[in-house]
Amino acid sequence: MAIGDMDATTALSPDLPAAAAVARRDAAVRAAVAQGLVGQGAPVAALLDIVGIRRSAAALRSAFAEVTAAPVLHAFAVKAAPLVPVLRLLRKSGLGAEVASPGELALARAAGVKPSHTVLDSPAKTPAELRQALALGVAVNADNPQELARLDTLTRSAPTRSAIGLRVNPQTGAGSIDALSTATATSKFGVGLRDTGAREWVVRAFLDRPWLTRLHTHSGSQGVPLDLLAEGVRTTYELAEEINQLAGRRQVDTIDIGGGLPVNFDSDSEAPTFAAYARILQRTVPGLFDGRYALVTEFGRALLAKHGTIVARVEYTKAAGNRRIAITHAGAQVAARTVYAPQSWPLRIAAYDAEGRPKTGAAVAQDVAGPACFAGDLLAENRPLPLLEPGDIAAALDTGAYYFATPYAYNSLARPGIHGFSAGTDGGVRFATIRSPQTVEEVVAESGGEHIRTLDAL
Ligand SMILES: *Cc1c(COP(=O)(O)O)cnc(C)c1O
Repeated sequence: MAIGDMDATTALSPDLPAAAAVARRDAAVRAAVAQGLVGQGAPVAALLDIVGIRRSAAALRSAFAEVTAAPVLHAFAVKAAPLVPVLRLLRKSGLGAEVASPGELALARAAGVKPSHTVLDSPAKTPAELRQALALGVAVNADNPQELARLDTLTRSAPTRSAIGLRVNPQTGAGSIDALSTATATSKFGVGLRDTGAREWVVRAFLDRPWLTRLHTHSGSQGVPLDLLAEGVRTTYELAEEINQLAGRRQVDTIDIGGGLPVNFDSDSEAPTFAAYARILQRTVPGLFDGRYALVTEFGRALLAKHGTIVARVEYTKAAGNRRIAITHAGAQVAARTVYAPQSWPLRIAAYDAEGRPKTGAAVAQDVAGPACFAGDLLAENRPLPLLEPGDIAAALDTGAYYFATPYAYNSLARPGIHGFSAGTDGGVRFATIRSPQTVEEVVAESGGEHIRTLDAL
């Protein structure tokens, strides 16, 4: 893995947006220290670059506007950053929401996302969830034949404005991370099109149900190559064409191509871009972009990852077995994937001094450890960085999606505060709270605190 020395990459890179993002981040870390958002009182915090998020949302919209004149709903995958103010920001940037649980649907509604701009995907929707979605007019993608049977009953008992689709699995194969590959032969998601009789079953299911108007596919997240993603979309498009031909009308009017655009975790440049992916899709599936089909996308990680930074105070430094170790306050509770699967999820770490200025100095291999009580709680192992000292700030980069936003309660470590930032008119950095730091009282309350005596009676 190329963990670039930040100064070197920014000095050599012609990538001006990346250089600007680094400058915004550096200014934000400095200001976060100065304003006490991270430091003695708050050993770990998370920062979100609002300018960067707005730019990514605009880049996504223009990438698809370049390749099609058809309507496109960009439904942000809420699981990537389940934060109400962020969902509202994205809504105001023209995006909708893809939700996969009652909680995510509630977050999207709290953020004011319209039902018609909301898509419900989940492999385990209960009858109550389906009924709620249909009553609201939220689009629903059924996962399997049993769910379709439930929808038969529900749509018969009450009229709905919801667009209803079926998720299919093109079974085009896995990417580099098995746990995130949803288009394998045995994936739990959707109807596997290559299974014996399955394709015929899907076609029949549509012909029997005039209200079934969408096809949905999502081949996976991070690690799935773009041509494999595009191949899955092509398979889905061809199925739509077949259904429409047999139906003798444009029954399938919308294709939901899912998300899954991978993120570059080894430098500040954003690659691949939404524009590059849109062009690959247009080349692979030209018919999908000729205006006959409305589109839905469900990107998560690629919209948010680059814009988040975890800042953690270095509490102690030590050495063991000739290994230098910096013990920080960011570990599994904010970076579960990196800690449990470091090969798949390496993160760049940037070193800042106690005032929040980028540290310079010779790189020394060191472990950047978290606060949790197990040996594997490491954000980075044997990583060359300017030598961290107590009071310094270690920053875990590219953590805007699926990291601090989806914390893990190990060791009852409190959820850190999340602060949005942008440059003020005076050139200074302005912060706004996105999620308050969790207090220890709240930790007690959500750990059964109100049931303190219930076991006495048993
Ligand atoms: C997770 C998920 C997404 C988002 O994936 P990203 O890799 O974050 O873009 C989109 N659609 C579905 C159905 C998902 O499960």
